Amino acid sequence: MVRRETLHMILTLCLCLVNIDAAPMDVQRRADGSVLLDDMLYSAEQWDSFLDKNLLSMESLWPKKDGVVNIFYKISDPGVNTTALNLAITAWEAKTCIKFSKMTESDERAEYMDFLLDKSCHAGVGYFEGQPTKVSLANCPERGPTHEIGHALGMKHEQARSDRDDNIIVYMANIKPGMEHNYDKAPTINFEVPYDYYSLMQYRDRVSHTSIILNPKESAGGEAHSN
Ligand SMILES: [Zn+2]
Repeated sequence: MVRRETLHMILTLCLCLVNIDAAPMDVQRRADGSVLLDDMLYSAEQWDSFLDKNLLSMESLWPKKDGVVNIFYKISDPGVNTTALNLAITAWEAKTCIKFSKMTESDERAEYMDFLLDKSCHAGVGYFEGQPTKVSLANCPERGPTHEIGHALGMKHEQARSDRDDNIIVYMANIKPGMEHNYDKAPTINFEVPYDYYSLMQYRDRVSHTSIILNPKESAGGEAHSN
């Protein structure tokens, strides 16, 4: 539904600084030191900085110049669904100050979004100095690429916002055991952008069809995007 496509949350995009507080104790590091938490892949350096400082630094934001955030990208795997990817890119460009440019073969820049297939639908969070931000589009749901680009831009889930308890009720008791960390609250800076019940960055309001987990405090209602 178009209504759910409202990319209100995108207003946070050029501003969005996302943070993380308590580190869940049940996550495992990958062999390269990175940590996949839900659909967000944190580098070893990011994860350690969370533990040290409880912050994702401003350096994690993509640079903005003359009012535009220029993001270069590469498609590293020929199996990537370019139709879905292009729809996602078009959506972000239409609603934000971001412009995407596909890299040429000879382009040797270090910082870009690298679209590939790596077992599941997930993305690195934010900008990395000197290296690409990887976005895996394997087994993504319909609007997964749009959502994952949101992570790659530096956004966390809407229900993780610092002000979420003013806007939604989270029924922790209804969450599948072991998945509680997906509903942790983070000390995000929200730049006075209102909570968006229809954000592509918010989970569905229920995990099964019987257990409500996220319930709006206002009558906005509706299910949001998952993954
Ligand atoms: Zn996500």
